[in-house]
Amino acid sequence: MKHLSFMSTRLTASALTTALISFIALVCLSLILATVWQMNQSKLERVATAKVAVSNIVLAAEQQAQDTLRQADNTLRDLVERVEHDGIAGEQQTRLTKLMAQAAVNVEGIQGLFIYDAHGNWVANSFSKGIQTKNNSDRGYFIYHRDNADESIHIGSIVRSRSTGDMVIPISRRITAADGSFAGVALATVPVDYFQTFFERMDVDDQGVIFLALNNGDLLARRPTLTALMTTNVAKGDIFTRYLPYSDSGTALITSVVDGVERIYAYRRVSGLPIVAAAGVSFQYVIAPWWAYAQRSMTLTGMIILALALLGILLYRQIKQVMTAEGELNIARNELEIIAQTDSLTHLPNRRCFDAALQREWARASRNKSTIAIILLDIDWFKQYNDTYGHLRGDDCLKQVAGLIGNSVKRAGDVAARYGGEEFVILLPETDLAGALRVAEKVKSSIADTFIEHSASPLGKLTISSGVVVINAPQKEGYTAALEAADRLLYLAKTKGRNRVEGQLIQGLCGEDHLAEVLPLTLGV
Ligand code: GH3
Ligand code: MG
Ligand code: MG
Repeated sequence: MKHLSFMSTRLTASALTTALISFIALVCLSLILATVWQMNQSKLERVATAKVAVSNIVLAAEQQAQDTLRQADNTLRDLVERVEHDGIAGEQQTRLTKLMAQAAVNVEGIQGLFIYDAHGNWVANSFSKGIQTKNNSDRGYFIYHRDNADESIHIGSIVRSRSTGDMVIPISRRITAADGSFAGVALATVPVDYFQTFFERMDVDDQGVIFLALNNGDLLARRPTLTALMTTNVAKGDIFTRYLPYSDSGTALITSVVDGVERIYAYRRVSGLPIVAAAGVSFQYVIAPWWAYAQRSMTLTGMIILALALLGILLYRQIKQVMTAEGELNIARNELEIIAQTDSLTHLPNRRCFDAALQREWARASRNKSTIAIILLDIDWFKQYNDTYGHLRGDDCLKQVAGLIGNSVKRAGDVAARYGGEEFVILLPETDLAGALRVAEKVKSSIADTFIEHSASPLGKLTISSGVVVINAPQKEGYTAALEAADRLLYLAKTKGRNRVEGQLIQGLCGEDHLAEVLPLTLGV
């Protein structure tokens, strides 16, 4: 029940406004938070999808590099074995040249195969014999094998082919003599174009990149290609400095050291080879569609918030109007209530007001077993006054008398009212007979002392008579009888000569029958 009464409690205007603003603010905040969260989620999803896509591209690039280089290495291994076993003199050189020419055609990705002696001289190659007078002892791979006994595959930085003029990746193996000394180098060249053509088929955006690089950072192939591809080293880039030292593969958001583009990269060390494969899609490419979507979402949210704010303003105005109207209505109702309770001539409380007050105070006195006093007052010879001075002067006289009666009653809770015609009544809660008689005498004196001329009265001035009844510990519903008792006492005062007060104390008055018992003597006078 308590809950229900709380629910039905009406909010004040300011509380209602605060509640309205809070509610709209809460809805707007929830909307903003939901939009931000949703936008962030979709951004994370897009980035995650992009990471998966670039990781797949890197896997494909790794596979391609591995297949090509392994095949080249197998061919080289075979050549080295033959040279080390059979040598390269005479007939053997012709056989090798033929074999190499065939292998260059058969093994995909290999452009040329070469064998150099310990001094770097061209001994055999997969091309025609006419260009065999050159020396490659200055090449990095040659110097490496000459100075290192390492017999594993060696992948060098890009060089410009002396036989074709193309950019090629040199893949080489050392040829070791029977005594362990350096006997030359077997070389396979893979054109950079071979990888780049493959990269072109991959699905990355215009700003995207795919590259293969040596572990030292030298680029081997790149999409899009670079004019300075041969001399570009990416060892200082984030992939080599920040990520590869800790993980052989992964994804990261990185700004390229080569072209400054921010990309989502996937990188991977090509297993078993000194190569790193990486691919990246530009962050802009990934984010642009999301950003367009986010802008649409934000616009929509903004419009909803605006609509809510407008609705709030509208509601706020309505509430204010309703509150103002209600305030005005309350004032009007209060005024009406006052009018309904007031006598229009004398401006004293009217009979209706008095009756309500009497019932209220009677019930209270009944509960508290206290006393309640009623003074009934009636102007003497008023008919004659009207007859003598006219009805209008009679009205003025009534106003004057009402003012005097009203002034005599000051205590809070006391009620002085116009009872009807030239009769007035005073209600005095918690007042004993002595007190009530004092008030009645005071009223009588104040009127007599004012000396309102009344030539038709035997006293020559306006006077008033009163019947005072004081009930001790009244019983319920006895107030009508009390009024009648007061009326009888007033009648007594009239019969005793007017301009006087008659009073009596009655114990626990409860009805008319009882009244006859308590007032037998007075009524007989
Ligand atoms: P009594 O001393 O016995 O009370 O005689 P009375 O003439 O005062 O009594 P009565 O009841 O015969 O006359 C009351 C008069 O009061 C009659 C009526 O014209 C007059 N009266 C009642 N209401 C008004 C009023 O509002 N204005 C005026 N001017 N006279 C009123
Ligand atoms: Mg009268
Ligand atoms: Mg009278």
